[in-house]
Amino acid sequence: MKRKEIFRQAQNYAFSYMDEVRERNVFPSEEALAGLKNFVEEFPVSTGDAAEIVELLHRYGSPATVAQTGGRFFGFVDGGVIPAGLAARLLADCWDQNCALYEMSPLASKLETICEGWLRDLLGLPGSTVAGFVTGSSLAILCGLAAGRYRIFARNNWDINKKGFYGAPRIRIVAGREAHSTVSKAVALLGFGLDTVEWVDTDAEGRMKASDVPELDEKTILILQAGNLCSGAFDPFAEICERAQRAGAWIHIDGAFGLWAAASGRLKHLTRGIERANSFSLDGHKTLNTPYENGIVLCTDEEALKAALHASGSFMGDGENRSGMFYTPEMSKRARSVDLWATLKYLGREGVDELVYGLHLRTVQFAEELRAEGFEILNDVVYNQVVVACEEDPVTLRTIKNIQRSGECWAGGAFWAGREVIRISVCSWMTNEDDISRSVRAFVQGREKARS
Ligand SMILES: *Cc1c(COP(=O)(O)O)cnc(C)c1O
Repeated sequence: MKRKEIFRQAQNYAFSYMDEVRERNVFPSEEALAGLKNFVEEFPVSTGDAAEIVELLHRYGSPATVAQTGGRFFGFVDGGVIPAGLAARLLADCWDQNCALYEMSPLASKLETICEGWLRDLLGLPGSTVAGFVTGSSLAILCGLAAGRYRIFARNNWDINKKGFYGAPRIRIVAGREAHSTVSKAVALLGFGLDTVEWVDTDAEGRMKASDVPELDEKTILILQAGNLCSGAFDPFAEICERAQRAGAWIHIDGAFGLWAAASGRLKHLTRGIERANSFSLDGHKTLNTPYENGIVLCTDEEALKAALHASGSFMGDGENRSGMFYTPEMSKRARSVDLWATLKYLGREGVDELVYGLHLRTVQFAEELRAEGFEILNDVVYNQVVVACEEDPVTLRTIKNIQRSGECWAGGAFWAGREVIRISVCSWMTNEDDISRSVRAFVQGREKARS
């Protein structure tokens, strides 16, 4: 019973956090940051007191968190968390399941299979599509490209797992200049070498120019993007994928946050043509607002995905019961499918549509209110991102600092089309119309200060 007490204690702390998170500073105050020194100590010699440890986290850790669940954090592309998914995760954490193998967690195995089917259906992907549940898109991209690498080599009678790269036929990598840095990381990790990438120019919105895509062939991996990090723009899939498929290229779509547009009736047009791709990467923890570490790789070539990630030869498993490890690089891993499943089941098709389209509507509101206040909006607001600028770079840079210090909301900076910009991502289900107007006021005040 004593053991249960610390869980009640943690729960109480969590509840008070939830009650306060909407009103506290979005980025921690100086005082809260100074409190982090309380964690600095020599490694303890003797066993501690669990209740005290949890209390320490509450007292000094909690105030130094970034209020990402509060509705006014617009940095990077960080989603909030939907209660159904979070509660499911808390329960699953108590189960502490390892979902490497079916035998370790029949439940996790079943929920992975169910999520796989639902995602295929929700995103309109081919029936052969399978899913691997990983930490995030960084890893999902790596998995998708590894599957493509395996398949292209196999078609050329080259077993990459056994023979490696020495003497191997040449594979081409074609990607847009605006590809996410994790695409470069995956390309480098897989041994292709970044200097060999054929980078394709992008237009003013950061979309790959279809006319600039080089001649493709069956030894090419083409990497496209659903959702540009700054503008939220989508590559012209219909045009490019048709050509790429005819040429026999492997198409990977990095859709970390953008692929979810396919689940919204009113935004789906942005993803037209994706069904021709061979692999996809996306994040539950962004647009879908699941807890963190809910990355997903989707692949229409099950054999390639499994072979690429499990060189052991026994990768086929026993067929009937899914073992999660065969679809991911990791072996031991937590049962992420529980929180993903709970979020999907809670939202349903209509809820996902409402969530994704709602983020878009708030984004449009943000852009319109900022424009009315004399800010420049540099992108076409097609999804959940806004690229904003003040009259001059130095004012923009100071405005960003002021916004971040205000505690009212948080947005980051970027360099876009030769200018310093403020980058806004509306990615949390918590963000309502009031949050937007309140944040616009913080932008205006931040700029006033920056001008004086
Ligand atoms: C966030 C993001 C990634 C990386 O995803 P992680 O989940 O952070 O690993 C890759 N590509 C795009 C477009 C992203 O937005």
